[in-house]
Amino acid sequence: MDIEIECPWCGELVTIFVDPGGGAEQRYVEDCPVCCRPWEVAALEEEPGGFAVGVTRAGGND
Ligand SMILES: [Zn+2]
Repeated sequence: MDIEIECPWCGELVTIFVDPGGGAEQRYVEDCPVCCRPWEVAALEEEPGGFAVGVTRAGGND
């Protein structure tokens, strides 16, 4: 499913895809398509097909 988030680095609104088949609780690293810096994505399925997604800066020192 598509989720709109705000990049924690560049502030752009970006739509990301969360695979519901990946489980009810997912955590992975993905690069921002705008600024190419890494996010740590945490997705939690709050209801069937409804994910709450949080994105924080991954990879550290910058
Ligand atoms: Zn970005």
